[in-house]
Amino acid sequence: MQTNFTLAQLADPAIETVNGILRSCVHCGFCTATCPTYVLLGDELDSPRGRIYQLKSFIEEDRPPTAEEVKHIDRCLSCLSCMTTCPASVHYMHLVDHGRAHIEETYERPLVDRLTRAFIALLLPRPGLFRAMLIAGSLARPFRALMPKRLRTMLDLLPAKVPGPGWADREAVFPAPETGSGGEPAGKRVAMLAGCAQQVLGPQVNEATVRLLNRLGVEVVIARPAGCCGALVHHMGRTEASHAQAKAMIDAWTAEADGKGLDAIVINASGCGTTVKDYGHMFRDDPAYAEKAARVSALAQDIAEFLAGLDMSAVRATAEMSVTYHSACSMQHGQQIKTAPVDLLRRAGFAVKEPEEGHLCCGSAGTYNMLQPELAGRLKARKIANLRRTQPDVIATGNIGCTMQLAGDAGAPVVHTVELLDWAAGGPKPAGIP
Ligand code: SF4
Ligand code: SF4
Repeated sequence: MQTNFTLAQLADPAIETVNGILRSCVHCGFCTATCPTYVLLGDELDSPRGRIYQLKSFIEEDRPPTAEEVKHIDRCLSCLSCMTTCPASVHYMHLVDHGRAHIEETYERPLVDRLTRAFIALLLPRPGLFRAMLIAGSLARPFRALMPKRLRTMLDLLPAKVPGPGWADREAVFPAPETGSGGEPAGKRVAMLAGCAQQVLGPQVNEATVRLLNRLGVEVVIARPAGCCGALVHHMGRTEASHAQAKAMIDAWTAEADGKGLDAIVINASGCGTTVKDYGHMFRDDPAYAEKAARVSALAQDIAEFLAGLDMSAVRATAEMSVTYHSACSMQHGQQIKTAPVDLLRRAGFAVKEPEEGHLCCGSAGTYNMLQPELAGRLKARKIANLRRTQPDVIATGNIGCTMQLAGDAGAPVVHTVELLDWAAGGPKPAGIP
């Protein structure tokens, strides 16, 4: 794609990066076929190629975007399916991230939008506040009919029951027994991202992760108990807030890596993993953080990736169970992890199926189901129909957002992959499995 940035614009390293991305696009349009919003709406402006043109236009002209352009960029799920499909390796994620930050800086959203976004950005990354809000939300349910539509939509997304705090969400070291599952000392030490929204909505995921890793001989350290990696606000274009949250995580993990050492930073929410693996890019021009951020990104691994490198021979399911694996977009497109979770489940003895249209997003996509409920609902219905067709006993996934989006309607319990592996290793049966 031809670009026309001025030399002065190109002196800015961020614009230079954008220029390189835009120039790598050859307009072939292959990406449109796998873009969920194009599949639903059939509008070129809601396709990756159409969005690339719109992003180019307002970034190159260095102007505030129009309301129409913002509408089409906001409809993008950041599912990154287009990146998997693109034959020219166009880095759409870095482009749309820059575009969202540009929108945030230059465009004034309507008041209701501003308030909704500020509310989400304030609450979700803070587990204490988020838990309090969930409890208040469950108390407010009887008054649902009296609320404005936007509030009703958010209320409908709340879980029926708010779990209490988990034991694996505190600053702690969970030492491993002497040997791994195969009798060999694993001798590994990892930091685990305790996360923010996940530790409130699904505290059992961190508990299963710690229990399983300990059983496999891996010491687990939680260096920062209540910290968002920055992903939630990063996707809203709030660069200052996301960088502050990311820096706090980088500092905590760097101290651990410099101290007793780390073999990996293990992340059990693939949306967060995609962002942590991108810290090196986010801070590439920050002299104080570039090196530290790149080191953290290099250490980051999804829990499935990390487990794939361990001796899992003692992890054997005792129950015959049909598991349908739902691959989160951030897992399959963001991190390009496609086989490890399925292989782990199969090796543990589960019968694993994969649904049709597995590449299409379920509509969760971070805060998307709160901000774009109509499109998110249509994607959810489509995903649920495909999952139900596989007639699963249980659905496994690796991202809390997908769990919350699908749970209750999928016709089977939705659990994290690591909960099933922990169960197969002798841990408790995941909730909801009969
Ligand atoms: S597939 Fe890649 S190169 Fe082709 S239009 Fe889409 S982003 Fe551009
Ligand atoms: S990230 Fe997903 S929704 Fe956005 S343009 Fe790419 S494929 Fe479409």
